[in-house]
Amino acid sequence: MDYFEKLRVANELTLKYHGRNVNLERALFLSWYCSLGDCKFCYMSSIKDKVDRKKAIRDISRVLAEAIICKRIGWKIEFLSSGYNAFTHEEIDEIAQMVSYVVKEPVWLNVGILKNLDFGNYVEGIVGAVETFDMELRRKLCPSKHLEPIIEMLREAKEVGYKTGITIILGMGERRETIENLFKMIENLKVNKVIFYTLNPHKGTMFENETPPPSIYVSEIISETRIRFPEIDITVGPWIENVPSIGLFLISGANSLTKFPLFKIFGTKIAKRIEKEVESVGRRLSGTITDINRILKSYDYMQDVSFDISKEVLYKIESRRLKIEEYISEYIENIMKNLKKV
Ligand code: SF4
Repeated sequence: MDYFEKLRVANELTLKYHGRNVNLERALFLSWYCSLGDCKFCYMSSIKDKVDRKKAIRDISRVLAEAIICKRIGWKIEFLSSGYNAFTHEEIDEIAQMVSYVVKEPVWLNVGILKNLDFGNYVEGIVGAVETFDMELRRKLCPSKHLEPIIEMLREAKEVGYKTGITIILGMGERRETIENLFKMIENLKVNKVIFYTLNPHKGTMFENETPPPSIYVSEIISETRIRFPEIDITVGPWIENVPSIGLFLISGANSLTKFPLFKIFGTKIAKRIEKEVESVGRRLSGTITDINRILKSYDYMQDVSFDISKEVLYKIESRRLKIEEYISEYIENIMKNLKKV
């Protein structure tokens, strides 16, 4: 199948299995700490020595405020995200309860290796940071983040009834032909969701002078994945530089978008361009990236949901209410300021 035929088939399958809606997603970042800190592409590796675990944890009221704003504008929480060992199992459990409660949806976790997957129905899925499908390259780029425990965790997650996802960064020098490793992994582990990021060459890492991969390469990888696995969710995180390629990535098989700096671009020309890219290929966004009225419209996040949330956790959210509201106002103020600049 040549490239254009792959696009045609992938697009057809995406429409058949996922329809025209495109989800907007945002990872909720919980901490700057990572006990490994040596993945060669990662921002954390450039700051590891400067990070104190306790100080690196974000104020949970701020995280909840961000989650509530996402809910207001119809963005899905991609997952709760942190480096390895930034939190104890109990802390992650509590944060998952809090976030799922305020957004009224179960959450996914991408927080390193989790053992004893005994969360309640407020957790929907577990993500493994596979990072690349080229295993030789992986050993060099992630010397301490071994693949076996990740695979083990994803297998256990499936066994106990969670959905699973994996993350892949494209453009780090992976050998094209090793993509079969990815397909075997999706098949063997019955993965529900693949998230493709493109390399973001962080300052202070070995990639700082590199460029992100060509869009055609990214789109071909997405299309091959869609053709092999029509039913899985495919999210693409194109970063802001790749906004002009969004339409291409969607017809290649992606059904969700992530990695946009929400508070910087909401309502701006870039956001409008994202909307146009989506519309240009006959898709529609499930949430909004431009409608300021939606961001201003509050909802009662303390309203009950049928999740196994403990009373203590509910009390903790309630006691943070003032702080949460303060942060929501601060975020909205920043968005308004950015809007005045453009
Ligand atoms: S495990 Fe994750 S957070 Fe830690 S260094 Fe590697 S990529 Fe970065």
